[in-house]
Amino acid sequence: MAFFQDIGKKITEGVQDASKKTTELIEVNKLKSSISSEKDAINATKIQMGDKIFAMFNAGEAIPENMTEDVQSITARLEKISELEGKIEEIRLASEAEKASRAAAAAPAAGTGATRFCIGCGAPLAEGTVFCGKCGKKQE
Ligand SMILES: [Zn+2]
Repeated sequence: MAFFQDIGKKITEGVQDASKKTTELIEVNKLKSSISSEKDAINATKIQMGDKIFAMFNAGEAIPENMTEDVQSITARLEKISELEGKIEEIRLASEAEKASRAAAAAPAAGTGATRFCIGCGAPLAEGTVFCGKCGKKQE
């Protein structure tokens, strides 16, 4: 029976080994997760440091010379963003003007009774129109 006892012992040891490995793996994963959290916190702090330097620069305060280029790069990119946003606004306005123009074209032609005229091209404007149906100009 020694043989079977031996086998039984080996199986028990094997199960214990596997269980120990699982426990180790869980522990290592927990530690890795903690390391990852710390790294995230460091990165967040670095971003805040950058924000502070940028705010100092904008306030006209002295910043470390080796950061001037970075700050100028951010300023240039902010200008680029503003330029891109301007293009979006242009597209939006053009689309609005086109919509108004289509609505005006669909509406019955303004007769001689028109009381408002386009400030751009002088075409008669229907009551409540914001954009000229003829030239698309926004009315003040
Ligand atoms: Zn017009």
